Parts: sequence; structure tokens; C-alpha cells
Amino acid sequence: MDFEYSPAQHAFRREFRAWLHANLPSELCLDDPADDRVASDRETFERRRGWQRTMHEAGWVGISWPTEYGGRGATLIERVIWDEEYAAARAPVLPGNMGLSLVGPTLIHWGTDEQKRRYLPPILSGEEVWAQGFSEPGAGSDLASLQTRAVDHGDHFTINGQKVWTSGAHFAHWILVLARTNPDVPKHTGISAFLVPLSTRGITVRPLVLLTGHRHFNEVFFEDVVVPKANLLGPIDQGWTVSTTTLMYERHSTGARNPIGQVKSLIAVARRLPSNGHTAWDDPLVRQRLSQLAIDCEAMRLTRLRSLTRQLRGEPPGPEGSILKVFGSELGTRIAEAAGELLGMHALVNQGSEMVPDAPRWFNRVLAARQYTISAGTSEIQRNIIGERVLGLPKG
Ligand SMILES: Cc1cc2nc3c(=O)[nH]c(=O)nc-3n(C[C@H](O)[C@H](O)[C@H](O)COP(=O)(O)OP(=O)(O)OC[C@H]3O[C@@H](n4cnc5c(N)ncnc54)[C@H](O)[C@@H]3O)c2cc1C
Repeated sequence: MDFEYSPAQHAFRREFRAWLHANLPSELCLDDPADDRVASDRETFERRRGWQRTMHEAGWVGISWPTEYGGRGATLIERVIWDEEYAAARAPVLPGNMGLSLVGPTLIHWGTDEQKRRYLPPILSGEEVWAQGFSEPGAGSDLASLQTRAVDHGDHFTINGQKVWTSGAHFAHWILVLARTNPDVPKHTGISAFLVPLSTRGITVRPLVLLTGHRHFNEVFFEDVVVPKANLLGPIDQGWTVSTTTLMYERHSTGARNPIGQVKSLIAVARRLPSNGHTAWDDPLVRQRLSQLAIDCEAMRLTRLRSLTRQLRGEPPGPEGSILKVFGSELGTRIAEAAGELLGMHALVNQGSEMVPDAPRWFNRVLAARQYTISAGTSEIQRNIIGERVLGLPKG
């Protein structure tokens, strides 16, 4: 594994860091950007869209997209550097993230030339924000069981059904929908993918509230929704293959975060927090627990580098993707549990105090951490993948 960056990569890092320093408004910075991926209200959403526009005009959005589609054709390492600097600046997740990370790359792979020309530029600028309409009440882990129907009427389809857990659909303009176009064939083969404006008549978006009180995702209902033929993405009945492209990008993007920043902030809290006439940090058990979490973050960082090395050598993806997803999301839960036990009632009160000025952040983290072992494929499903495809164990 080569830990050194080239002079050009160092220069790229310096350039992006300096640009963020000069342009990122401090009021947009967040303690935990990952826990606030969807803006809490429309005003914040619009402010973040303005930020995406600024970044886009300076050429810093969608950098790994090919240049012919408005990206920079950045290398894998440049993309990693971009992620690291963006997270270190505590900049908000871009509101168009779903389009930039999932829908855009899927369109580049499967879209017609006309679809690419129509949909890709507004994804980059943030003019059009996308949602992912895959999961349904009876189809999450077993996505291919989805029941939403799209019926062919010659020049258009009509869609009926329901999606759920649709992140950000209450702000989004468009949704990538998977629907069943042929119910008479095995379930993986009768699905198609559609590009649907959320303003279409017959669509109802109903927000769902997270444990934290935050409106993150939604139920989306489709009642006789008319979708032109031109909005089919990829071949008819090949939606499962199209969705596999999207899910591959989703797993890649969710495996990327390293929570070492959270462990460092927790250590800072422990150093101030009074406990038995000393501070919590003076307790060897507290130090041991937080050190173990820091060690686990380092193990995760090195596993990620191993996965990058494999990609750079052009080798097929190894087990690291699933390992990073399981380990990273469960490490997030363990950090949240440690925070809850350390802070006690401070983590329950959603208000800063003299002792714990950032208490709302920990309140949020303790409750929000659970979502990551579910979204983008649950821990149980990832363990099945590791067991069956990596370790070669028999199917359960
Ligand atoms: C924060 C968040 C955001 C999300 N955003 C979106 C979005 O934008 N768009 C979208 O389409 N979806 C989204 N989802 C949905 C997500 O993809 C699903 O929640 C996930 O795939 C699990 O599906 P499910 O909730 O239906 O649970 P189920 O599949 O019903 O699973 C229930 C439980 O059974 C276990 N289980 C299921 N099958 C097996 C098996 N074969 N072996 C062992 N255990 C099993 C699961 O691990 C889980 O513990 C989001 C979810 C979350 C939490």
C-alpha cells in the first residue's frame, strides 16, 4: 500500500482547501454533516442549494464525472481528497447529493444521449434535486418483491403504488422510481426504472419524522401517475440491472465516512466533564473505551485504503465494501452508546449547558446513529453477503 500522495495530489488538496476556506460561509458549517443530510427546513435547503451553485460555478461539483458530462474526470485519489477536505471543513452534504452520487452516475451509464443532455446539467448545478424511490412497505432488503405497477399505454405508462423511506422527497423535484412492468415473469426480470417529476398529478409526498424530530424521509404515493415513454431509463423490464448500478454507487458512497472526528470531540467533552471530583477523562475505564473507539477508526481507515489500493490496481472489488459498511455503521452506534453513557442526562436534554455546550449534537447523534445499520442495506444483509460471497459459507 502506498501511503504517499504525489506533488500533484498535494497541490489539488491545497487548492480545494484554500477555495473552501475562502468561500464556505461559516453559518453553513455543521458539527455532524452526516447526521443532517437532508435540510431541516426549506430555507436551509435553499441556502444549501445556493452553496451548491457556488461550488458548481467554481468547478467543484461532481468532480469524478467525465468531463463530457460537466465533471472534471477526477481520479479516484482526487475524489478521496475532495471527500476528506469537504468533511474536514464541516461543509453540509450537498442538497443534490442523491443526484450527484446515485442518479447521475446511473444516468451516465444507462441514459440515452437525450436523457443525459436533459438531466445531467441541472443535477450538477443543484437546479434539480433528485430522490430515490426504491423501497416499499413490503420491499426493502428484498427489493425485487416491489409491488408498484407501471402499465404500458402505448405512448405513456401509468404508475400506481407506494414508496417509503424516500429521503428528501419533500424538497426534491424528481424521483427515480422502480416499478413492476411485467408481473408474469420471475420477480427480478419484470421491473423497469422511470424518471418522474414529483410535481406530476397523482403523486402525494407525506413526510415521516425521525426519532430526532427531524423530517428526513417520506412516504410517496402514486395514483394513476402518467409518465411519458421517454422517461423510461434503460431497457423495459431491465430495471433490476439499472438499480444494481445505483445501489453499487450507494454502497460505495456510504462506506466512505470515518467517525474519528466524533471520537475526538467526545474526548474533548470527557476532559471537561466533572466526575467524582475529577474529570471523566481521569477515569481509566473511560480512557480505555474512547481509545478503543479511536483504534477502531484507524482500522477502518486502513481497510478503506486497502479497498482503494485494490481499485487503483484494477482488481475486482473485494470484501472491503461490505466490511466497511457493517463495521463503519456499527462503530457509529458504539460511539453513540459511549456518548450516551458518558454524558448521561446531558445527552437526553436537547439544549446546550455550561458543562456540555454541544449537548444537542450528542442528543442527535445518540438517536441518529441507528439509521446507518439499516440504510443502504442492513447489517444482517451485509453479513449474509460476507458469509456467502466472501467466506463461501452455504446459503441459510
Ligand atoms: C435513514 C434512511 C434513509 C433511507 N433512504 C431511502 C431512500 O432515499 N430511498 C429508498 O428507496 N429507500 C431508503 N431507505 C430504505 C432502506 O433501503 C431500507 O430500510 C433497507 O433496505 C431495509 O429494508 P426494510 O426497512 O424494508 O427492512 P426489512 O427488509 O423488512 O428488514 C427488517 C429486518 O429483517 C432483517 N432481514 C431481512 N431480510 C433478511 C435476510 N434475508 N437475512 C437476515 N435478516 C434479514 C433486516 O436486516 C432487518 O433487521 C432508507 C432507510 C433509512 C433508515
